[in-house]
Amino acid sequence: MEDCIFCKIIDKEKPSDIIYENDEIIVIKDANPKTPVHLLIIPKKHISSVNHIEVEDKALMGDLILTAKKVAKEENLKGYKLLINVGKEGGQIVDHIHLHLLSGRPIEIP
Ligand code: AMP
Ligand code: ZN
Repeated sequence: MEDCIFCKIIDKEKPSDIIYENDEIIVIKDANPKTPVHLLIIPKKHISSVNHIEVEDKALMGDLILTAKKVAKEENLKGYKLLINVGKEGGQIVDHIHLHLLSGRPIEIP
């Protein structure tokens, strides 16, 4: 997808701090971390947002959460939050679906 920052990261056209990668998913450190541990779990398939998920993406969406669990275990995280912003009004800035993994301090969600 042209002009998508996460697609460029996935294609290695833009640098990023990669924590984990497989054929379908990449996990990177957030460039502007809101918590001591702030990772982004990103499917390699360009899906703009939760509002654009199709039934065929069901397994991939499940894999995002399983990947969060795997990375959290590898990073020895005792607890964490998983968050998806949806749409501008939902706080979404990058229009390529991603799961935030936040940890390292108590986090208030309004
Ligand atoms: P969202 O508001 O849910 O769309 O979150 C987008 C996240 O992507 C923000 O937390 C940004 O700090 C992060 N971000 C934007 N550009 C980059 C980048 N080039 N590398 C890593 N993280 C990024
Ligand atoms: Zn993209």
